Amino acid sequence: MAEFGRRTFLGAVGVAAVAGGERVAGGGRVPAADRDWSRLRLTGRLVLPADADYDTARRPYNAVYAGNRPAAVALCADEADVARCLEFASAERLPVAARSGRHSYAGYSTPPDGLVVDVSALREVRPGGVSVVGAGTSLLGAYEALGAAGRLLPGGTCRSVGIAGLALGGGIGVVGRKYGLTCDRLVGARVVTPDGSVRDVDAEREPDLFWALRGGGGGNFGVVTSFRFDTPPAHRLVPFELRTPAGAAVDVLGAWQEWLPGLPDELWTACRVETGRPARAVVSGCWAGPPEGLGPWLDRLAAKVPVQSRTVRPMDYVPAMRYFAGCTGPNCPPVPPTRFVASSRMPRRPVDPAVVVGLLARERPVAVLFDSFGGAIGRVGAAETAFPHRDALASAQVYVTVRAGDEAGARRDMAVVRDGLGADGGYVNYVDPELPDWRTAYYGANLPRLRRVADRYDPNGVLAFAQSVRA
Ligand SMILES: Cc1cc2nc3c(=O)[nH]c(=O)nc-3n(C[C@H](O)[C@H](O)[C@H](O)COP(=O)(O)OP(=O)(O)OC[C@H]3O[C@@H](n4cnc5c(N)ncnc54)[C@H](O)[C@@H]3O)c2cc1C
Repeated sequence: MAEFGRRTFLGAVGVAAVAGGERVAGGGRVPAADRDWSRLRLTGRLVLPADADYDTARRPYNAVYAGNRPAAVALCADEADVARCLEFASAERLPVAARSGRHSYAGYSTPPDGLVVDVSALREVRPGGVSVVGAGTSLLGAYEALGAAGRLLPGGTCRSVGIAGLALGGGIGVVGRKYGLTCDRLVGARVVTPDGSVRDVDAEREPDLFWALRGGGGGNFGVVTSFRFDTPPAHRLVPFELRTPAGAAVDVLGAWQEWLPGLPDELWTACRVETGRPARAVVSGCWAGPPEGLGPWLDRLAAKVPVQSRTVRPMDYVPAMRYFAGCTGPNCPPVPPTRFVASSRMPRRPVDPAVVVGLLARERPVAVLFDSFGGAIGRVGAAETAFPHRDALASAQVYVTVRAGDEAGARRDMAVVRDGLGADGGYVNYVDPELPDWRTAYYGANLPRLRRVADRYDPNGVLAFAQSVRA
């Protein structure tokens, strides 16, 4: 464990508890304007509300939380900057949150009145059998850098999601049944803990913290500055899509769920059901085996459901990940901010397709996105990593785009669909600030161990937020 020189004010740290994101003990809040920010000297830059680029620097991806105004955004240039930020926040009893790709569903990386520790400049990727990926790397940035060196990492599809939030909460993606979740490929990380220590963490060094980093959720134990992933050789992938007619959604979702248990690991698939008059379902996925092997598996599903069109496109790894990321041209800018509310459940048995389609018979557009589990994901024990949902058939994400002035209605519809699915559990990366049973939903039986890890590495609750494991 390397340590940066502790700042003199560290000794002054008191207990700072958080309830619903508000500091309630430890001496009260110091107004942002009254803080002596000059004591936070960075190699990078500190952006304050008076700065011209404050709005650009602070904005979260989910525009529902666009009103969150942090006290400052620290654009960290290196690991030492991260350590300085945590020491400063500890001493000042200041809410603090790490930020990588800004895609937290609940805006948790943009704490109101707090300090944002932005690691997005830490995006060096060093590919190899074990690849080092800077914590600020975007997903597409990681796939492109790894793919150029012939390596592959299982992970999500959105190009501008950050590797840190994704990997720390799990990481569901299109080759997950063959290669596991992103967190399953993690073999080590560098983490700055709230005492300012920089720790090299792996199965031998700080094994409890290493366990917690694999699914225990972003922001809970420290700020990761880089990850080491076991990255298998990259190979061609075959994205596919089956479009089915409106009105067939009950049959399609039913047949899709029956199809899942017999599939080989190479086949990952999703089923998206969305409101419409009548509802419509689309089946998509990715084949990670020899291209000629996919057809017979698709035939099996197609024999059970009406198919309007069937698209199968073999491609090299990087073009495939660009395709899933929605990149059509050579330039692929970050996905622009959007307003949405979302949640999830983790069904272990098939859900009733008629119930799902019934729930979606509403005015406001709502989608339920089922992503298949099983394969390599299901062969890891529920307590082996902090990610507990190993026996899930799929994740079921409920997603509602928020239209102007309609947030309350969108939240209402989202909750009705979420609660009507007839499944429990929840994916911490689809973090839902209104999920009633969020502690057990995200972590199940792993919660007590996660709390012990948080107590050990963050005894003063410096990193606490509304849905942190200790809340
Ligand atoms: C459009 C979109 C598509 C998505 N697609 C997928 C998908 O295909 N698969 C999937 O599994 N998930 C997906 N997600 C969910 C995604 O995994 C989570 O939103 C994730 O938390 C985002 O990580 P981030 O780094 O971009 O976000 P941030 O908002 O930067 O961070 C998210 C959380 O992690 C913490 N954190 C950030 N950086 C660090 C760090 N360096 N150290 C410690 N904690 C840190 C933050 O404090 C915050 O609590 C998607 C999300 C969106 C918005």
